[in-house]
Amino acid sequence: MLVEASGMYYRSGDGREILDGTAGLWCVNAGHGRKEIASAVAAQLESLDYAPSFLLGHPLAFQFAERLADIAPPGLDRIFFTGSGSESVDTALKIALAYQRAIGQGTRTRLVGRERAYHGVGFGGISVGGLVNNRRMFTTLHGVDHMRHTHDPSRNLLSKGLPEHGAELADDLERLVELHGAETIAAVIVEPVAGSTGVLLPPRDYLKRLREIATRHGILLIFDEVITGFGRLGSPFASQHFDVVPDIITTAKGLTNGAMPMGAVFTSRDVHDGLMQGPEAAIELFHGYTYSGHPASCAAGLAALDIYQRDGLFTRAAELEDHWQRSLLELQNAPHIVDVRAMGLIAGVELSSRPNEPGARGYQLFLECFEKGLLVRASGDTIVLSPPLIIDRDQIDRIAQTLFDIVRKIT
Ligand code: PMP
Repeated sequence: MLVEASGMYYRSGDGREILDGTAGLWCVNAGHGRKEIASAVAAQLESLDYAPSFLLGHPLAFQFAERLADIAPPGLDRIFFTGSGSESVDTALKIALAYQRAIGQGTRTRLVGRERAYHGVGFGGISVGGLVNNRRMFTTLHGVDHMRHTHDPSRNLLSKGLPEHGAELADDLERLVELHGAETIAAVIVEPVAGSTGVLLPPRDYLKRLREIATRHGILLIFDEVITGFGRLGSPFASQHFDVVPDIITTAKGLTNGAMPMGAVFTSRDVHDGLMQGPEAAIELFHGYTYSGHPASCAAGLAALDIYQRDGLFTRAAELEDHWQRSLLELQNAPHIVDVRAMGLIAGVELSSRPNEPGARGYQLFLECFEKGLLVRASGDTIVLSPPLIIDRDQIDRIAQTLFDIVRKIT
């Protein structure tokens, strides 16, 4: 049980301090217990607790959207609020389909995702996602294809920075165009860095190549930045970090520092204008949530953004990246380590699997870290890390050292 949190630490039910190596669930980027956020939410609930955003607005939603547009990649300044990352993904996919129809491209109904992708748990998200367990148990959308994932252990292990090999995997989109015809494909969605499936970094130039292919064929490119948004890689969004501008970005998590449930979808003006004014546009987008633009979530988001900007947290990840990578790469000298992938303030430390027991070693490491006062997350046998961006060098060293000590002991 976790019962309290402040700064870089949780307090467990048995009274121990736990160093938060995962920013909660990749979301508490400014650290825990931010008083400014708590008081902004409380004040908002007292003055305007709720407003339906289907027909009416409230000022804070517009203020927040304006502020978000200022930090967004160029042109992605049309914003739709949701209640979570899963809702953002399903919203983005629906916007893509509605856009294609509105501009007279109604045959474009196919969606393309990628293996080993996680896009939340809505039906859209699990359909374009590539997590086998999430998909197999349920009915998924028809007309969805998957590109191959980009993790290639035969070529890219223990590289510092982006994997050198694999940009050509973006050509999978070209192959799907050849197979089905561009006129059938609405959008392709990828996480710039695949988080939940083990922190898979994109091969150098992969995202640029994907952008080129999508543009050439009139396919919308969606970046799922639910994890990479709000400074995780050292820029507000991964889009800026990789210098690739998608047509749509999905966000959540760091949007409110995890303090209130909220997501946001950013679209380009072209997508927005086509959707609203294209030759076959409907009078409105028939989509929205009761809690879209919730006043208390907007208040939390604005307060979080104030902190991020005042304390320069988006660039802090970039400043600490070198130390983060060097500390974690030391782990390659420990047993069981297959790969270390670190960038910005995110990392995946991959262990070999025990014979016939995939995931057991990762889970054991998670448990033992918790015993030793460190919260990490296991994705199979990969330990994934994404600490709050307020982390300092000593705390980074402590994470690496704790992992090192435990990895040496586990079987
Ligand atoms: N997309 C990505 C890339 C995610 O990492 C997540 C959550 N980890 C989601 C979507 C879903 O977000 P939520 O859990 O808020 O629905």
